[in-house]
Amino acid sequence: MPELKCTVQTCKHNQNYYCTLDKIQVGGNAAKKPEETCCDSFAERGGAGGASYSNAAYGAYTDSAGSASACSCVDCQAVECRYNDNCHCHAGKISVEGGNACQSSETECATFTC
Ligand code: SF4
Repeated sequence: MPELKCTVQTCKHNQNYYCTLDKIQVGGNAAKKPEETCCDSFAERGGAGGASYSNAAYGAYTDSAGSASACSCVDCQAVECRYNDNCHCHAGKISVEGGNACQSSETECATFTC
């Protein structure tokens, strides 16, 4: 379970650069560079909730009562990344970025490495 730092302050799950979700989903199954990945768990602060997050497939993703911890499980579709093992992230720590993102496509896993 990687240590997760996230700069996406516009996401409602972000608390002091940590994520309050126990588990996140990173997308980008054809990604060859960080810009082609995204955090599918992004949900705009004040919005109705991200499309992916409200999807039934993500129903098991729980928000740990608003307390952000340093580590989160990361399910990741970016299979070209060297840290990806069977769609799970095995990096020691990752950085999700996208300071002013309004949607998940404006976020990225900056740790992605081919
Ligand atoms: S470091 Fe690689 S495997 Fe881990 S979340 Fe980022 S893109 Fe996915």
